[in-house]
Amino acid sequence: MKPVKFGCLVFDNFREQGLLHLLSHAHRDHTYGLKDKWTRAPILCTQITAKIIRTWFPRIPEALFILKNPWTSVELEDVGIQIADANHCPGAVMFSCISRKTPRKVVYTGDFRLNSKIRENIDMFKNADLMYLDSTFDRPVFQFPSQTQAISNVIELIEENVDRAIYLGVYSIGKNKIIKAVSEHFKTRVYIPPDLYNVYTAIGMQDYITMKKKTAWIHAYPRHYIQKLYPNLDGVKISATGWACLFRSRPDKDLYYVPYSEHNDYNSLQTFIRLTRPKKIVPI
Ligand SMILES: [Zn+2]
Repeated sequence: MKPVKFGCLVFDNFREQGLLHLLSHAHRDHTYGLKDKWTRAPILCTQITAKIIRTWFPRIPEALFILKNPWTSVELEDVGIQIADANHCPGAVMFSCISRKTPRKVVYTGDFRLNSKIRENIDMFKNADLMYLDSTFDRPVFQFPSQTQAISNVIELIEENVDRAIYLGVYSIGKNKIIKAVSEHFKTRVYIPPDLYNVYTAIGMQDYITMKKKTAWIHAYPRHYIQKLYPNLDGVKISATGWACLFRSRPDKDLYYVPYSEHNDYNSLQTFIRLTRPKKIVPI
């Protein structure tokens, strides 16, 4: 992703010089350049995002984080920033910035999935001069069911295989709604690898997870483990991902794909563009 700047603001990039860094969420592809020794400029993000970042980089001074909740705004000397909940991973937000000097409006969506709350607040995204838009699944082949439906599909697959070990493909952050729903439905804690434990506790998942591998029958691993590294796992493997729409066949009879996503599918992306009518779009 090319560095995105707006005056003295830098979005989701820590290699670029700026006076204030706006961090939409704590996925690694949005934190390039961030290090434990970061002291260059303050970082504006949500409290959850800061908590996750500090599990990776505990030496970044707490005072460098400017914590803001979704659906609030920040007034700087020349720029007003509105912050929206992105309905993506925990702590994720979108930014709408208006420069008073020019005046010029720039929307930076980060990663997001359109929902009723974003629709209710659609005015803050309308008529941008420039919109940096999450276009991850911007092709008609990507059609996702609701997250609730996708989670029901995961639970059904597990119900059909309760006598076997279950391996869920997740991300380090995000897809945790699946783990929570599965843990509640089957009244069991889901195993996660120790390197994910701090992040999962930072996002309030401690009641749904365990690091005791032997006692758990449902295991959650980063998705690439399930698809590539564990082809011979004895159990049912469920990979919940938007990319499932591209997979025509299953390489393994015990591997199931569920099109669960925390991004827009093609239709909801088109709806967002239609509702907001930006003058120019730059895909991110
Ligand atoms: Zn993301």
